[in-house]
Amino acid sequence: MSGLFITMEGTDGAGKTTQIRLLEEYLLNKGFKVVCTREPGGTPISEKIREIIIDKNNSEMTDITEAFLYAAARAQHVDEVILPTLKEGGIVISDRFVDSSVVYQGFARSVGERLIKNINKYAVGELEPDITFFLKLKPEDGLKRKKEQAELDRLEAEKFSFHQRVYDGYVRLSKRCKNRIQVIDALKSVEEIHNDIVRGINNLLEKNGI
Ligand code: ADP
Ligand code: MG
Repeated sequence: MSGLFITMEGTDGAGKTTQIRLLEEYLLNKGFKVVCTREPGGTPISEKIREIIIDKNNSEMTDITEAFLYAAARAQHVDEVILPTLKEGGIVISDRFVDSSVVYQGFARSVGERLIKNINKYAVGELEPDITFFLKLKPEDGLKRKKEQAELDRLEAEKFSFHQRVYDGYVRLSKRCKNRIQVIDALKSVEEIHNDIVRGINNLLEKNGI
């Protein structure tokens, strides 16, 4: 398949949104067709599912329900946004993807990686990101950044140990998928991180002859 599928991962406050905006601008300036999207969400149906997932009133939601809701939102997202863009040769930048489910539901909620991978197979088929940037930021630093912003949603408001498990999960996953996941020290300045990401993207574009 032509096109390029980029995903941004990391704990809350790591700088994903900030970096996606900068990368979009960089790639648009280079003349690429770029679609930025996010999970859970990215389509009208998926955004409705997102509302259910992050609603603080849904405290009784089971871990398995949560895992299926993410996968359901993703199935729609892949079919409606990601695959069509890639087929047209465009670049998709997604704020989170399957890695987030593996880390948040699989590791941090203890649903287990195998179950998460299995249900996500139905959602994404063979689709895998060409490159993933893991913005590595200790949870205490990420939460500090977020607290300066708006009110926390259901997942952001989880206790600290949950965010620590998420962080540990990302570190574990990135060690295992060295070819795809590029780890970036998210304590660096916005500009330094952007330059690291651009370097990673340009290496990949060159390798793919794009
Ligand atoms: P995420 O999307 O991963 O939750 P954001 O991009 O929303 O993270 O960034 C969270 C907060 O941290 C924002 O207020 C943003 O301006 C700030 N921020 C982002 N990147 C950096 C950085 N490299 N250094 C310091 N602050 C940053
Ligand atoms: Mg964000």
